[in-house]
Amino acid sequence: MVTNNNSPELQQTLIVGGGPAGFATALMLAKRGWKNITVLEKRPDADYYEPDKSFNYLIDGRGQKFTDYIGITENLIENGVPNTEFYLTEIKANGNRKTLKVPLADSDCKTSYWVTRKTFVSLLYSEIEKNWQESITVIFNAKCVEISKILADEGESEKLKVTAEIKNGESLIFEPFLLVGCDGINSIVRNTLKQWDKSSSNRFEMNYFPSGSAGLRYKVLTLPPRFPLDENGNELTTSEMSYAVRSAFKDPKTKISLGLLPLKNPDEYRSANIITKPNHKIWELKNGEEMYDFFKKSFPQIPIDKIISLQEVQRFAASEGGSFPSPQYCCGFYSKLNHEKAFIVLLGDAIHSFPPDLGQGVNSALEDVCILNDALESNDNNLSNALEQYESLRLPDVKALIRLMQIGYPWQYNQAPIRKKLWNINVILRLLLSKALPSILSPQAVFLIRNQKISYQEILLREQRTTKILYVSILMLVLAFLVFGLRNLTI
Ligand SMILES: Cc1cc2nc3c(=O)[nH]c(=O)nc-3n(C[C@H](O)[C@H](O)[C@H](O)COP(=O)(O)OP(=O)(O)OC[C@H]3O[C@@H](n4cnc5c(N)ncnc54)[C@H](O)[C@@H]3O)c2cc1C
Repeated sequence: MVTNNNSPELQQTLIVGGGPAGFATALMLAKRGWKNITVLEKRPDADYYEPDKSFNYLIDGRGQKFTDYIGITENLIENGVPNTEFYLTEIKANGNRKTLKVPLADSDCKTSYWVTRKTFVSLLYSEIEKNWQESITVIFNAKCVEISKILADEGESEKLKVTAEIKNGESLIFEPFLLVGCDGINSIVRNTLKQWDKSSSNRFEMNYFPSGSAGLRYKVLTLPPRFPLDENGNELTTSEMSYAVRSAFKDPKTKISLGLLPLKNPDEYRSANIITKPNHKIWELKNGEEMYDFFKKSFPQIPIDKIISLQEVQRFAASEGGSFPSPQYCCGFYSKLNHEKAFIVLLGDAIHSFPPDLGQGVNSALEDVCILNDALESNDNNLSNALEQYESLRLPDVKALIRLMQIGYPWQYNQAPIRKKLWNINVILRLLLSKALPSILSPQAVFLIRNQKISYQEILLREQRTTKILYVSILMLVLAFLVFGLRNLTI
């Protein structure tokens, strides 16, 4: 590749956020031959354990477009549990157990792999450490606190100045040519662009959309590996098995479930997600003893005091947990500074965020990185053109993804049992009809979303077309029934 001193490959790129999108973007740029890439991450380490962020990702074919490009899919397979081996054991309050193999959604999809967030982020980071240290520097414990514009030459053009706070209150200053915002839902990079944007288009303002799961609150309980399922410890959990432990309480305000997803490493701690409405009793219990008592009454079928320490229950009780965000996106994915002295681009949760219903958060972030890579490739690393192309290619897909989040699978958390039943009927009906008439009807989005060959836009189109056909068919049936009925009456 021919480069000159002004080429972006040689200038400083600063990435804010060392989560999945940040490390993936650093790796993609390094693989393209870019040097001088710095990643700022406020956490102390890549595998730093954050109990309330210890969820599991299912890296599907979309995410694997990225891992294939970097050549780390083998590592993913080594560290992940394939969805083809997804078994779920449901443990009812009366002790009854049922294990079922969850059927594959779409045989056209690549095998997806379950990995914890910590494992996946560490996997990306170890690839940086192993093969890309010459191009990428990762600074942990570095929080980006300010982004400003400074004059570059006699008031003519502007440059970027980025300030990061590191330990001991010291600051680091950067003047990057390209600033990449991969700093998640509350992105300081996006918020700065929002403040700077004087146009009426509100390019960096998030647009929010309602969804049945937005606003649900979650906490994560950390459980030891191989914990016992009975008092005598005769039966232990196995890491690759998923569990749904149902509570003895039936009232929606007290009923909870422990959801455990599969893990490759049998020695790793398990995390149990507890997802409830905000008015659930669990949010009132701030004291460890009370919470312990609540768990014992909720789950008489498992030996709670042999599984969870009082210390963990106290941490759990004190934790504020998190809440599912509303589906949201902004329309601006990039910005160019005056005279193109510097550029800013956003990826991942910084531009689109939503509840985890369809497991697309990390996969869509990795797909953003691949689209940016394609745009850089087809524009010969010309940033100005590549960023325009990135936004024009990705925005329609992001809009479709956000709509899919609203209609996809928001009722799965038992927050509204009747809605859940209706949703299930709708899904089964569409699935059966699509099997009978595959060329005109499609199954629900939840069955298509992991198919890396179909874009989010295409999935939405198929979904909407099926809905229209179903409505028209129902209308025609009603009309036929009325006409037939009236004719019979008048005879
Ligand atoms: C409860 C829950 C369950 C989820 N489950 C799934 C799932 O099953 N499947 C799925 O695909 N997705 C899931 N997601 C969503 C997924 O985690 C996100 O979509 C994904 O992490 C986005 O990656 P990102 O790199 O864009 O952002 P993030 O993962 O949020 O990473 C941003 C990084 O930037 C750092 N940072 C932030 N601000 C600064 C700053 N000022 N300076 C320096 N560093 C900064 C943060 O520490 C963080 O490491 C879930 C989310 C939640 C909340």
